[in-house]
Amino acid sequence: AEAILRVEGLKMHFPVTSGGILRRRVGTIRAVDGVSFDLRQGETLGIVGESGCGKSTLGRTLLRLYEPTEGRIWLEGEEIGTLGRKAMMAKRRTIQMIFQDPYASLDPRMTVASIVAEPMLVHGGFTARERRARVEELLGLVELNPAFADRYPHEFSGGQRQRIGIARALALNPRVVVCDEPISALDVSIQAQVINLLQSLQDRLDLALIFISHDLSMVRHISDRVAVMYLGKIVELADRDTLFASPQHPYTRALLSAVPVPDPAIDDSSEIVLEGDPPNPANPPKGCSFSTRCPHVMARCHEIAPPLVAHGPTLAACHLLD
Ligand code: SF4
Ligand code: MG
Repeated sequence: AEAILRVEGLKMHFPVTSGGILRRRVGTIRAVDGVSFDLRQGETLGIVGESGCGKSTLGRTLLRLYEPTEGRIWLEGEEIGTLGRKAMMAKRRTIQMIFQDPYASLDPRMTVASIVAEPMLVHGGFTARERRARVEELLGLVELNPAFADRYPHEFSGGQRQRIGIARALALNPRVVVCDEPISALDVSIQAQVINLLQSLQDRLDLALIFISHDLSMVRHISDRVAVMYLGKIVELADRDTLFASPQHPYTRALLSAVPVPDPAIDDSSEIVLEGDPPNPANPPKGCSFSTRCPHVMARCHEIAPPLVAHGPTLAACHLLD
């Protein structure tokens, strides 16, 4: 299938300023630091990594909620990284986001109908009657009673609120939905329901999903391909089965061995324990970003950043694999 979304060399750097009245720029946080990948129509790309690795920033930058520092983004073949505000607004139809916290992301003063209809109102071109009809259709799609349309967010459970967030994200018929930890704020008992709903909506609507999560088993469950991020970079990208059966990058190996994966195909004897925290993204190490924690670090790892290149069916960034 052809790529519906393509990203090349994407960087999102934030300035670090000193405190006090004279806010001087004292450094740069390299939250996303040269990310490239493509997303195919109808597929799910999982993005995993520890908190602070840049995965949420990446998701937001894809929607141009942040202005990328560098790099290119194509959506349905059209470059959007350089679009002006108005033109990007029109493209928002195609790419939407589901946020982590269904409590914080819904305005408590708005009814469900006005929350779900908001993208249609912002985008324009719909009569009030059309918006209302679409709201009821969308509530049905996320398996909520359309009669709930005139209620307020506080009247709903966490899982129901996330369904409202999903309905809003689908209002304009997007092709790509970025899901940023969409279930991590929910009770474990309802996580599976929301995941199953996302999967059935994906099938019915032929959506491409980017599924951002720190939860490896969830990512394994839902993804066709998986990208592993570390300190603003993708260090490994492969199809789901390849990645979980034979992780190549030392960081991926450490991540997988840190969680109990009930799979006899994974050799426990190679277990690596991740020690310490990732370095400060305002002061990343020279050379390989994983060099401060890598059990296989070599002299050249401190000098040269390994590029993300093909090793068999896997893309990985590590000198050890050369
Ligand atoms: Fe470890 Fe070197 Fe590979 Fe980086 S490049 S992951 S430090 S072996
Ligand atoms: Mg996050």
